[in-house]
Amino acid sequence: MFTAELTFECYQDTTINAVDGAITQLIDALRYNGQILGREFPTSMDDGVFITRVVCPEEESLHPRHHSCIVEKRLQALSDAGLLAPKVRLTGMDLHSDNTDPCQQPEWQVLYTHYLSTCSPLRCGEHLAPIPLYKLPTPAVGDHQDLLRWQVDWSSTDELQMHGTTLKQACSDTLTDLTSPLNNTGWQLAKEIEHKSQVPTYYYLYHLADSAEHDQKARPCPNCGGDWQLAESLHGIFDFKCEPCRLLSNSPW
Ligand SMILES: [Zn+2]
Ligand SMILES: [Zn+2]
Repeated sequence: MFTAELTFECYQDTTINAVDGAITQLIDALRYNGQILGREFPTSMDDGVFITRVVCPEEESLHPRHHSCIVEKRLQALSDAGLLAPKVRLTGMDLHSDNTDPCQQPEWQVLYTHYLSTCSPLRCGEHLAPIPLYKLPTPAVGDHQDLLRWQVDWSSTDELQMHGTTLKQACSDTLTDLTSPLNNTGWQLAKEIEHKSQVPTYYYLYHLADSAEHDQKARPCPNCGGDWQLAESLHGIFDFKCEPCRLLSNSPW
């Protein structure tokens, strides 16, 4: 991942409100298109110039060829707020985030996130490395907002059950039950991605140790009831894989 600065210059008199609104809308559009990552984007003002700091999956993430229609519209709207199109300056490599997947076209992919991850929730099956969302076909709604909302819901639920002080049981149930609204949405999103990209796309179903469950090997696929245990663990995370159902899961840690 790479850090970058977007510098916005005013070319006519304007108000802080107008500038703030236009920059926020552009930043949201870039985020929902996967061109920038995370949820916090510090913006500073200095002598009529505004600088927003972002993290990108690739050096070229902010190149216009990756823009969605919504990003294009938000860029055009900047001039209504008296702003020029931003200058992009790459400031370095981010040491804290995962490297982007090197594959041109992954053989298979998985929807997988966790409570610390701000990367793309779609990962290459072979490398488990995040795939920038702008590389996917654009969904009918124009961006990947639904997928990113699912990711925030999943990681927030995971964080609550990890901390164990608030709603622990409810969050564990939500994460582990294939029929919960959270998993239902994620599994459906994975199916839509597979349909659009023509790449087999799995959904990761979180599994927790259950005291009543003695024989893990007897645990069948929660959808079809088939045998889905892998001979060897994949990436040290996935111990169960059902191909027809496009599901992956773990042994309890
Ligand atoms: Zn890969
Ligand atoms: Zn199955």
